Amino acid sequence: MNSNEAESVAIVGAGLVGSLLALGLKRRGYAVAIYERRPDPRAKGVIGGRSINLALSDRGLLGLAAAGVTDAVERVAVPMPGRRMHAKDGTTVFMPYGLAGEAIRSVSRGGLNLKLMELCAEVGIPLHFDHACDDVDLASTTLRFTTPTGKVTVQPGAIAGADGAFSAVRRPFMRLDRFDYSQDYLPHGYKELTIPAGTDGASLLDRQALHIWPRSAFMLIALPNLDGSFTCTLFLGFDSEPGFAGLDDVTSGRAFFAEHFGDALALMPDFDEQWAQNPVASLVTVRCSPWVRQRTFLIGDASHAIVPFFGQGMNAGFEDCRVLFDALDADGRHTVDALVDLLPAWSQARKPDADAIATLALENFVEMRDKVGSPAFRFRKAVEAAFARACPDDITPAYTMVTFRPRLGYAEALRRSRAQDVVLDELCAHHRVKAFVEGDADAAADADAAFQAAAASLRPAALTST
Ligand SMILES: Cc1cc2nc3c(=O)[nH]c(=O)nc-3n(C[C@H](O)[C@H](O)[C@H](O)COP(=O)(O)OP(=O)(O)OC[C@H]3O[C@@H](n4cnc5c(N)ncnc54)[C@H](O)[C@@H]3O)c2cc1C
Repeated sequence: MNSNEAESVAIVGAGLVGSLLALGLKRRGYAVAIYERRPDPRAKGVIGGRSINLALSDRGLLGLAAAGVTDAVERVAVPMPGRRMHAKDGTTVFMPYGLAGEAIRSVSRGGLNLKLMELCAEVGIPLHFDHACDDVDLASTTLRFTTPTGKVTVQPGAIAGADGAFSAVRRPFMRLDRFDYSQDYLPHGYKELTIPAGTDGASLLDRQALHIWPRSAFMLIALPNLDGSFTCTLFLGFDSEPGFAGLDDVTSGRAFFAEHFGDALALMPDFDEQWAQNPVASLVTVRCSPWVRQRTFLIGDASHAIVPFFGQGMNAGFEDCRVLFDALDADGRHTVDALVDLLPAWSQARKPDADAIATLALENFVEMRDKVGSPAFRFRKAVEAAFARACPDDITPAYTMVTFRPRLGYAEALRRSRAQDVVLDELCAHHRVKAFVEGDADAAADADAAFQAAAASLRPAALTST
């Protein structure tokens, strides 16, 4: 053991969450070291060959701010103030995400991860690449790695398992008494495709939006990249009809796209190559508890992997870090023992929020692929938005709570959203609201006065109790 190892925190995984955790701990005076299974991506300038991008929202930004790295990330983000729905006939409708022009941001996953790693290196955090963790002894806080030059053993003061949904650090937890664990795969998988920029570098789709092609049982989405291209993700059942299993060659893939996403297909000149080469990946929800044993803890996807339909997996992981940093700052000691002392309360506070966003993310899949295309859904959204503007203390759309209210816990957002659903159901059926929007559906969003009157008679105590 090196002389100072016992006073350091070893972070397994240099992904998004591990890198941010390292930066925030280092900023608070901790000695940290990162151990990553992959080779060093900095020489190549990118991580992985494809341009996967993620939606970064206010919770993620708050986490980045707590580690002091917001500016560097804001510079590489593309704002998306709304979603643009593409109907089968090629017509589109834009729906703002926020009530007051708020935006989520599209960021390159590889680019963001690389930036965070570079920032780690700049502040002197040792990054040990090609270190695959294959065993953890929880009792003695010992990590064992396989490296290209042989086995390495490390015995730090604390271990953070930030090694993703299939965490190796989590494995010994699973052998212990009273460790709860579940892993649920969706019947849907996903495949990524790219819409390139036009010849002059201009975007071929509106860059101010997250694009959605909702098709009931499946959907395509597209997020803008800085270089004018878009990363598209097709979410489709593995074994359904249609499904990935029946679309395993270029001819059937092209025919499927022509039928369901003709406008997107027209923007992909190399569709055939992409369809043949890009893999189909699966989507999993992982729930487990507790996240802390002795001096080892799990964070990010290692403790709560969720499906991507609320765009919150990374954001939730960054929030894990931010809440931990806040607890450390409130405690003030900034020692490894202080960190270990705080971990049980931190994980108990985070667990209900992690469970809530897992639920919300699964439910939002149905909203995105199925409901957003229907006039009834758009009517309900218009009612919700108008009601929220008229009675902001009573109703805040679930999307707004999750995405733009970063100090409100996911669990509280879920609780309020359930209560609001009851009111919205009644409100949508209310004769005054119905009459108003039936006359002029487009004017529904301006119907504040009518909704005020309806809301006054419907407002339940449950909504105002917190
Ligand atoms: C299709 C898709 C779209 C998504 N979209 C969004 C979105 O829009 N917004 C959002 O917020 N989230 C999104 N997510 C979720 C997001 O990608 C994850 O929540 C996030 O990457 C989790 O970060 P992490 O650092 O915890 O784990 P990971 O990113 O998985 O990083 C784990 C790291 O640990 C390393 N590692 C693994 N095993 C070992 C080992 N044995 N030893 C050493 N190192 C190891 C890995 O190489 C990796 O570098 C999406 C996910 C998917 C699949």
